[in-house]
Amino acid sequence: MTHSSLGITLLGSTGSIGCSTLDVLARHPERFHVVALTGFSQLDVLFGQCCRFKPLFAVVGGAASAQILRARVLDAGLATEVLHGEAALEMVASLPETHAVMAAIVGAAGLRPAMAAARAGKRVMLANKESLVVAGALFMQAVRESGAALLPVDSEHNAIFQSLPAGFDGDMAAAGVEKLVLTASGGPFRQMAAADLAHVTPAQACAHPNWSMGRKISVDSATLMNKGLELIEAHWLFNMPAADIEVVVHPQSVIHSMVRYRDGSVIAQLGAPDMRTPIAYALSWPERINAGVERLDFLKLGALTFEAPCLARFPCLGLAYQALASGGDATCVLNAANEVAVAAFLAGKLSFNGIAHEVEAALAALDLSASTSIDGLMARDAETRRFVEARMRL
Ligand code: NAD
Ligand code: MG
Repeated sequence: MTHSSLGITLLGSTGSIGCSTLDVLARHPERFHVVALTGFSQLDVLFGQCCRFKPLFAVVGGAASAQILRARVLDAGLATEVLHGEAALEMVASLPETHAVMAAIVGAAGLRPAMAAARAGKRVMLANKESLVVAGALFMQAVRESGAALLPVDSEHNAIFQSLPAGFDGDMAAAGVEKLVLTASGGPFRQMAAADLAHVTPAQACAHPNWSMGRKISVDSATLMNKGLELIEAHWLFNMPAADIEVVVHPQSVIHSMVRYRDGSVIAQLGAPDMRTPIAYALSWPERINAGVERLDFLKLGALTFEAPCLARFPCLGLAYQALASGGDATCVLNAANEVAVAAFLAGKLSFNGIAHEVEAALAALDLSASTSIDGLMARDAETRRFVEARMRL
C-alpha cells in the first residue's frame, strides 16, 4: 500500500458485481486497498476474499455466521474484525479510512448502507439500482447535501455518464441533451411466444444470452423489469422526465446506452458486455485504468440490430413507466412487490407471468402517497411484501 492508495469498502463483495470489482482492484494494488468486505451467507467466498485482500472489517448477515467467520479469520492469523447486521453495514460504508464505496448488495436491503455512504460524502459507486427506485428523491438529496460523488455502475447509466460532456454539471438543457436512450438486450425470452412464457423455468430465466449476473437481476432482465428499474434509476440520476428516456432493444449488448443531442448527434458508449468496464470507470474516474476486459472486434461482431420492446409480452416495463408517472411511493411498492414475486418465481412457487400480476396488484391496491423518510419507505416496503406474500398464500 502506497501513501496515495485509496481505501475501498465493498458492500456485497461475494456477489457477481462484488467479485468483478475485486478482480479490477487486484489489477491495481498500488492504487487501491480494501477496507471492508460484506457478504450475507456465502461464508467460504467471504473468507477467501478476507485471506486475499486483508480488510480491516468483514460484515455478514447474522450473529451465528459472524461467529463462524470470526473463528476462521482468527485461525488464519488475520486481523480482520468480523461484524454482523445492518448497523455494521452502515458503519463500514462511512469509515474515515474509506474513500469509495461499491454499493453492490441486491435489492432494497442495499438502501440503508448506500445511503450511509452518500451521507458520509464518499465516492458512491452505485450498482444497487434499487436504492434509487425505492428512495430516489431522498438519495439524491443526501448526495447533494454531503457533496458525495455518485458514479453509476449499471452499464447503461455508466454509458450515459460517459456520453455526457466532460465536466457536465447536471443541466441537460444547457448541455444540449434532448433524450437518453437506454439499450436493453431483450433477455433470454425476447423471441418467445406469449403462450410459452407461462411455462419458463428459473434456470431458463437465469441463462442470460450476454451477461453473467446474480439470479435476481437475471430474472429482472428476463421480465424487462430490469429496464423498468433502470428507467427510474436514469430519471433520478440524470434528472430526466420519463418521456425523454427511450428504451430500445439491442440484442448484441455492444452499445450500452446513448445520449441524443439537439444538433442530431447521438453519442454512444460501446464495449464488450463485461461489468468490469463500468466498475473500473467508477473506480478511476476521471482517469481510465485497465479493467482486464476483452477488446471489441468489429469484424467479428458484424451487425448491430435494434427493435422495439414488446410491452404486451413483458408488462413489467410498462408497470415501471406507470409507477414513475404515479410518483409518491409507487416505485417503492413496484420494487418490493417485484422482489417478493421474483423470489417466489426462483423458488418455483410463482409462474413467470405471475411476477407482473403481483406487481400490478400491489400498485392497484396499496397506498402510494409519498413517504418523507427512509423509515417511512421501509415501512411501505414491508407492507408491500406482506401484501404480496398474503396473496400468494391464497
Ligand atoms: P448477487 O446476487 O450476485 O450478489 C448480491 C450481494 O448482496 C451478495 O454479496 C450478497 O451476499 C449480498 N446480499 C444479498 N442479500 C443481502 C442482505 N439482505 N443484506 C446484506 N447483503 C445482502 O447480485 P449482483 O448480480 O452482484 O447484483 C448486485 C446489485 O447490482 C443489484 O442491485 C443489481 O441490480 C446490480 N447490478 C448488477 C449487475 C450484474 O451484472 N450483476 C449489473 C448492473 C447492476
Ligand atoms: Mg443494467
